Amino acid sequence: MTKVKKLIAAIKKQWLAERTRCQSCGMPLIYDKKYRAGSIYCSYCHDGESFAQDMSLADMRRKVNSLLQSRKAPLITRMYMHMRLATLRRWRRGGVGKRAG
Ligand SMILES: [Zn+2]
Repeated sequence: MTKVKKLIAAIKKQWLAERTRCQSCGMPLIYDKKYRAGSIYCSYCHDGESFAQDMSLADMRRKVNSLLQSRKAPLITRMYMHMRLATLRRWRRGGVGKRAG
């Protein structure tokens, strides 16, 4: 592959990862080995019938942040995910599986 083709492939992969994030935890679904086709959630968050854990957006932010910290993700990544989580379907106003209060 040429350098340009490699670059385009990398951008495409990143774009796909961005487009297909789990709508609960924000993990790119292409990294979910047990992903069920058609689901908008990863296999860790949702088993096809219900969410694995009843949690609030704040709980999820804490969970994702500590996971990213353990992987030594840069601060900018953690800040981005903090903002990004609020845009996911589970956490939007009236979202499914969202805990009241
Ligand atoms: Zn998830």
